[in-house]
Amino acid sequence: MTYFKEINKGEGPERLFIGGVHGHEGLTTIKPLSKISDEEVKNGILTIYNFDESPYISTLDRHYYTSDRGKEIVGLIRDLKPEMYVELHCYNSNSFEKLTNLNRKERAGVPPLIHLEKGVLIGSISPYIRTSLFDEWDVCITLEIPCKASKESMDIYLKVIKAVASSRDKHELLDKLRKDYSEQVETAARYAIELYWDGYPPL
Ligand SMILES: [Zn+2]
Repeated sequence: MTYFKEINKGEGPERLFIGGVHGHEGLTTIKPLSKISDEEVKNGILTIYNFDESPYISTLDRHYYTSDRGKEIVGLIRDLKPEMYVELHCYNSNSFEKLTNLNRKERAGVPPLIHLEKGVLIGSISPYIRTSLFDEWDVCITLEIPCKASKESMDIYLKVIKAVASSRDKHELLDKLRKDYSEQVETAARYAIELYWDGYPPL
């Protein structure tokens, strides 16, 4: 069953978290998403959707955005116009190397995902929607965890989405992330410049 929750704390940013983007991922992403409580959000709105199973089409394949699930997600982004958008994904542990390999740019057209710790990976979202549906200074994050996640991995995953839920804007979020992951944030900034243009913000 699709999970939905809206936390509304009045004036402030619009945030959208999506799990169950494709395949069986919703079975994993429901766990952290259902743990976000009203107290995490200090201002603005957080809308959470976790979807059931759907055919697996990569978000790096343009056909994803003409699939039923892809159109549904684009519709939500257009309706809600989030300034902070997080896609929660999961991966099979044997894909770690492929997702984080420095040659991902040549192979898949996007920078490698960045390892935070405990198998939790962070990156931007599909280029098909990053620049067409969002502004430069919006926060757009893909977060990946092993589908069979350990408690340690799940704790890190949850920490990162709570950081987004409790931040007012990109500056506040980056300050929080830099405390534990300064090197990874620098790497994200470098990848953003390589993929888009000089001055493009990380994530
Ligand atoms: Zn995925």
